[in-house]
Amino acid sequence: MRVDRETKSASEGTVATLTARLEQSEARFRDVIERNADAIVVVDLEGIVRFANAAAEQLFGTTREDLLGTDFGFPLVVGETTELDLLRRDGPPLVAEMRVVRSEWAGTPAWIASMRDVTKRAEAEQNARRLIREQAARSAAERAVERLRFLADSSAALSSSLDHGHTLSALAKLCASHLADWAVVYIVDEQGQVGRLEVAHRDPAMEQVARSIRDHPIEPDGRHPVHEVLRTGKTIVRRIGDDADLRSIAQDERHLELLRELGVASYVLLPLLARGHPVGGLALVSGDRDRRFDDEEVALAEDLASHAALAVDNARLYREAREADASKMQLLAVISHDLRTPLSSIIGYADLLSMGVPEPIPEASLHHVDRIRTGTRHLLYLIEELLAFARLGAGDGGLDLRDVSASEVAREVADVMEPLAAERGIAFHIDIPNDRVTLRTDPGKLRQVLVNLTSNALKFTDEGEVRLEAAAMDGTVAFCVRDSGIGIGPDHLEDIFKPFWQVPETRRSGEGGAGLGLSVVQKLVAMLGGEVSVESVPGDGSVFTVRLPRYPLGAGK
Ligand code: ADP
Repeated sequence: MRVDRETKSASEGTVATLTARLEQSEARFRDVIERNADAIVVVDLEGIVRFANAAAEQLFGTTREDLLGTDFGFPLVVGETTELDLLRRDGPPLVAEMRVVRSEWAGTPAWIASMRDVTKRAEAEQNARRLIREQAARSAAERAVERLRFLADSSAALSSSLDHGHTLSALAKLCASHLADWAVVYIVDEQGQVGRLEVAHRDPAMEQVARSIRDHPIEPDGRHPVHEVLRTGKTIVRRIGDDADLRSIAQDERHLELLRELGVASYVLLPLLARGHPVGGLALVSGDRDRRFDDEEVALAEDLASHAALAVDNARLYREAREADASKMQLLAVISHDLRTPLSSIIGYADLLSMGVPEPIPEASLHHVDRIRTGTRHLLYLIEELLAFARLGAGDGGLDLRDVSASEVAREVADVMEPLAAERGIAFHIDIPNDRVTLRTDPGKLRQVLVNLTSNALKFTDEGEVRLEAAAMDGTVAFCVRDSGIGIGPDHLEDIFKPFWQVPETRRSGEGGAGLGLSVVQKLVAMLGGEVSVESVPGDGSVFTVRLPRYPLGAGK
């Protein structure tokens, strides 16, 4: 190719000028980069640092010489801002923010990374995040504690009584004070009718209005949402959007007015399920449009409802058991009483016959009449035992406290027992060292206790003696009935106090009791504020000890 000399020299001049300009602009560029406040590092395509400005020295905590020619080590992503954790040789670690552009350096392609220390901002962000996490954890923990406390309090309140009404009123109050603005407890009666049993309001001023809602019967037409809950056994959570919504659940105009007055923005209706069967429902109502019952609150209400249903069921079972017990006792009392009246006349006429009234009867017949007298006396004893037991069970337990002399009571018991002991050929002793032992107790009940124990002692002793002792010590008076009879095996010492229980070998068809004597003793002694215990050696005899407080609490001295 032929080149014109003039042209060549002209173009050489242009190249020189351009090169000079380029060098100038690159020098200016370097200068600008050098003075830049951001750290700037130029990295070639091999990842090797080709240039670093003064700010970069500071940021990396090292000298430019150490940086140049080394591997940059951080991924270079164009168009994104990345955060780098810088572990520095001199100084604490830093967090830097980096932006990367693709450019040229000394005529070859390179990356230019500019970085800025954002440690303070990163720390602030981290602190803020930690704070938020901690606050969330704290409020979750607080809510959990609150929830547990509420459940513990409510369980205690619900199980504090076996009275059905009391339990439900406690439930309504708990809900109104902790979970809603007002609460209603519905109950299904024996005929399957649903009724509002309890209503409570958070605001005492509204309590009266809330209660008047109970006067509105729940129609069995199924319109009321409680029917849905009872049918499905599932909780419902609803919002009341407008007045038409409210109208759809109101039973009548007055009911609608009451609902408007009380405020219904949303409600939760839960079934009260006892052993899988709905026994009632529980409604939690909020009048606040901005409030929603969240999942946690619904779960809490469900827990509460299951505790309440159990308490309601227990109360029902207890009531039924008591009713059954009371009618059993009533029956027992009536039968015993009706048996006693004709028996008394049999005994009376048998006594007259044996006394020769209206005229003496033959010797052989006299023996028969004696058998009638023994049999009827035994029957009377059994009836008395049944009557005493029935009276205690029916709650005939008023105490007639008086100042009583221990030896006087013992004397009265001996008056009844001595003839029986003599009949059986057993010695009967009273042993009260200090005649002035007194106590404040119910003398009738104490007498009955000692009569039962001494008659047992005589019954189960074939020879030897029976002793009735009394002694005072440390604010108590101990009465002991000691016999030298057949004794009781260690296996039976607890059972003998159970009603109708008798040691199998000692069951005596002709003269035994009904197995109620000791059960009556135990109940009476408990009523007198004392306790009864027994020690026995089979074959050697038994000692029954009754310890009574000399001055029971509240009886005064
Ligand atoms: P009951 O005397 O009418 O059978 P109790 O309740 O008084 O009923 O006593 C229950 C059982 O305890 C008696 O049947 C008897 O087996 C045993 N028992 C009671 N007292 C004595 C005693 N002093 N010695 C031996 N066994 C006794």
